[in-house]
Amino acid sequence: MDAILEDRKSQVKRSGEGSGICCERESVSGAVSQRACVYCGARVVLNPITDACHIVHGPIGCASYTWDIRGSLSSGDETYRNSYSTDLREKDIVFGGAIKLEKAIDELMELKSPRLVFVYATCIVGVIGDDVEAVCRQAQRKWGVRVIPVKAPGFSGTKTQGYKLACDAIMDYITPFAGGKKEFGVNILGDYNLAGELWIMKEYLKEIGVPVMTGITGDSSSQSLELAPRAILNVVQCAGSAAYLAERMEQEMGIPYVKASFFGIADTTASLYRIADAVKSSQARAKAEVFCKAQKAKVLPLVEKRKPRFEGKRAAIFVGGGFKAISLIRQFDELGMKCVLVGTQTGKKDEYEIMSSLLDEDAVLLDDANPAELERFLVEKGADVLVGGVKERPLAYKLGVAFMDHNHERKHALAGFEGIRNFVEELNLSMNSPVWKHL
Ligand code: SF4
Repeated sequence: MDAILEDRKSQVKRSGEGSGICCERESVSGAVSQRACVYCGARVVLNPITDACHIVHGPIGCASYTWDIRGSLSSGDETYRNSYSTDLREKDIVFGGAIKLEKAIDELMELKSPRLVFVYATCIVGVIGDDVEAVCRQAQRKWGVRVIPVKAPGFSGTKTQGYKLACDAIMDYITPFAGGKKEFGVNILGDYNLAGELWIMKEYLKEIGVPVMTGITGDSSSQSLELAPRAILNVVQCAGSAAYLAERMEQEMGIPYVKASFFGIADTTASLYRIADAVKSSQARAKAEVFCKAQKAKVLPLVEKRKPRFEGKRAAIFVGGGFKAISLIRQFDELGMKCVLVGTQTGKKDEYEIMSSLLDEDAVLLDDANPAELERFLVEKGADVLVGGVKERPLAYKLGVAFMDHNHERKHALAGFEGIRNFVEELNLSMNSPVWKHL
């Protein structure tokens, strides 16, 4: 633990250490966290609403940081692929940026006629104190279009706080549509249709006779979100970003929820069974059993063929949420690999406990890691592959470690049985690339 900052020591543990890991706290100053800011957390949740305009009230850097941030696909509108910014400069910081924001909203309404607008207040707006809520209220009255403020200065908490703010914004939008008649159907929460993964899940649920009302927010639109309160069940895919929304929808709209993960054979199968049971349909359960059996029969030959190339190798994981990390540990286990290092940006205590129970005693758990810690433990644990996102990729390559992209920018589906094929093939290509022999 000698290379770990004193204030970070409680967030770095061996799996076998009894006292548990400290998590869900703000990043330590100067630790150069891999975690994204509050505003980024809010933006990644709301961005996939395909017909919404997103105005970033702040310097241009905040907008460019999150522009087209996800590989979220749309079956219709492409409005969300653009990013709009008030481009605040020194003069605006001194004299205030509210008038600039008013003008930006007016211009956007005239040019694009959006059905829904989100306005994000970034760090500097939190400092100068522009009344973003008042500007949004006024614009909403003037244009008759929902203009929802998301007060998310990057410094005001953790990325999890950004998720909560986004969930509050969604509740703000859908609450007026609550109270109608329920329909036999589910919402999928916390899936962002990366590389079309929501479409894969929708197809699976269609196979077992369970219709999807809307994705929140993958491939959703202002209109599809209005249907959400009618669902009888919420299926939560990314618990880190959407569990809070599911809890609010349960309390305020009476919609129960189940957690689901579609990464790996075991979790995909268990999730389909869980959904079928939760909608209380024996027919859906029977169809799920038949469907999963057939899909497993298709995918297992590839898994078995590649398994000898993976067996005994060591994996390291650093991803956003704990629920995904748990699925990945199980998925590596299915391939005969051991996870020696597991970290997350926003994992929760109960999730770290599950991870601990699945890992060997000397595996390292890292909450809210920084590059120095990741590098140190990748070397110490002799990892053969790192699974992470865009910020972790160069770290792995510099150390000569194979890398696998499991982040929101990726262009290939990793969910469902299709995703297992992509996962196995990418892992094989990366780990067994001839390039590693030349280092
Ligand atoms: S909101 Fe703050 S921390 Fe986030 S990108 Fe903008 S300046 Fe950086």
